[in-house]
Amino acid sequence: MSKPQTSVVILGGGPGGYEAALVAAQLGARVTVVDSDGLGGACVLTDCVPSKTLIATSETMVLLRGSASLGIEIPGADGAGNGGARADGGAGIWPGGPGERDWIDAPRLYRRVKDLAQAQSADVGARLAAEGVEVVMGRGRLTRRTRPARLAGAHAVVVGDREIVADVVLIATGGLPRIMASAKPDGKRILTWRQLYDLDELPAELIVVGSGVTGAEFASAYQALGSQVTLVSSRERVLPQEDADAAMVVEDVFKRRGMTVLSRSRAAAVRREGGGVLVTLTDGRAVRGTHCLLTVGVVPAVGGIGLARAGVTLNDRGFIEVDRVSRTSAPGVYAAGDCTGVQMLASVAAMQGRIAMWHALGEAVQPLRLDHVAATIFTEPEIATVGVDETMIESGQVKAEAVMLPLATNPRAKMQGFRDGFVKLFASPRSGRILGGVVVAPRASELILAVSIAVEQLLTVDQLAHTFSVYPSLSGSLTEAARRLMMPARPRAPFGEPAQ
Ligand SMILES: Cc1cc2nc3c(=O)[nH]c(=O)nc-3n(C[C@H](O)[C@H](O)[C@H](O)COP(=O)(O)OP(=O)(O)OC[C@H]3O[C@@H](n4cnc5c(N)ncnc54)[C@H](O)[C@@H]3O)c2cc1C
Repeated sequence: MSKPQTSVVILGGGPGGYEAALVAAQLGARVTVVDSDGLGGACVLTDCVPSKTLIATSETMVLLRGSASLGIEIPGADGAGNGGARADGGAGIWPGGPGERDWIDAPRLYRRVKDLAQAQSADVGARLAAEGVEVVMGRGRLTRRTRPARLAGAHAVVVGDREIVADVVLIATGGLPRIMASAKPDGKRILTWRQLYDLDELPAELIVVGSGVTGAEFASAYQALGSQVTLVSSRERVLPQEDADAAMVVEDVFKRRGMTVLSRSRAAAVRREGGGVLVTLTDGRAVRGTHCLLTVGVVPAVGGIGLARAGVTLNDRGFIEVDRVSRTSAPGVYAAGDCTGVQMLASVAAMQGRIAMWHALGEAVQPLRLDHVAATIFTEPEIATVGVDETMIESGQVKAEAVMLPLATNPRAKMQGFRDGFVKLFASPRSGRILGGVVVAPRASELILAVSIAVEQLLTVDQLAHTFSVYPSLSGSLTEAARRLMMPARPRAPFGEPAQ
């Protein structure tokens, strides 16, 4: 007798949900994805994909601004209203001026962002359909089974008046922008990142509240597009959770290009004033601008989906508690992605979703490893990281040597006209194994793969140092950093020794 087909219902069609659906379908399960707002989730429709599309345009603006120092004359970029074009070692046309926003056709830019997101969402839909996954549009919630118990399926999900019974449920409902009671977004002047693309103009004076990853990325992008940006940061420096040297480079670039960075400043309230906005800080200072973007965190989208009744426990921050194979406290109910708060990245959401399905459907599975996650902050320059970080070394949690090479001396960087950035490698002093790294550079997101492979494959500095890099190239600085960490006299431990 053949094994009965396992049925899986997935709440949420973002990367946590749709990647899980693909794995479950591949393993022969009957899969239904329920999604309320569009396949691809917030990742594709409002968050990751739109922001990176906007940043593709802002990156081009950075290149244009630096073009004078490379010998390119752009009509209109001659200083009149543009802050002055100057050949100053790659700094280019900074800070911006009012005329510069005219370079951008905002409605066209935002149209492109939205069209690309819709196209990406349609691709996700086509892929799911091709794999035989059923998609139900609507808001779903876990409920008590009403069908006779003799029918298969331990769980039930209700969408409108339809009940879907399943052996396994995956919750991948994502997150929502955190809203402060004293700063209510109106979609016109006071905005969350999900409302930016409905504007019909570029903000002239944008106040970004919050200097974490999302705040820093938008501050960087809008500055390059020509907005006068003020960044309100509650901490000593921007990007407080990131590598301190990397954050310092980015903050220095922000300020040099004319951004006002208000550190140790906390926004108390935001309100409309005249044609613009007024941001009041907790110390009583006031900041005025034309628009305010709120980037003060993400809360889990877990309300009203029947979790308590299903026995799914939340942690003290309100996220769904999961173990490293994505199991919740309720048997047969798994969770993945931003609703778990484990690490708010599309790649982590997708991996949690896949792991959930491998586990639920009886495949051999490796529990989630966060120490191998590669991540990028898409500021200009970008910050890309993988593996251990310096705070783990400083606290004694990990024993590692570090080397940091500025890119200012890299020949390719000189040719391309930039000087802000570095590569940093961390390696075990005993085995020489590469434990992590940081790259700060334009397109650092593409350069980090070499370090990521080294971390994942347990490579040593000697092995990276003996790898050919192209001359001239930015990746040449990675092999050079590895050479600096080589110590011929060091006794070698065998490959695969545990990280120190
Ligand atoms: C501005 C910004 C930029 C980002 N950029 C990056 C980046 O460059 N790289 C990166 O890796 N990560 C990035 N992220 C993070 C990334 O977007 C998230 O980690 C990712 O979207 C999480 O995926 P998810 O599947 O958990 O949830 P989501 O993508 O949020 O999808 C959840 C889906 O579930 C639906 N849903 C919710 N409740 C229900 C319900 N009851 N029934 C049915 N459906 C429901 C939602 O409508 C949504 O479609 C960014 C985040 C932000 C805010």
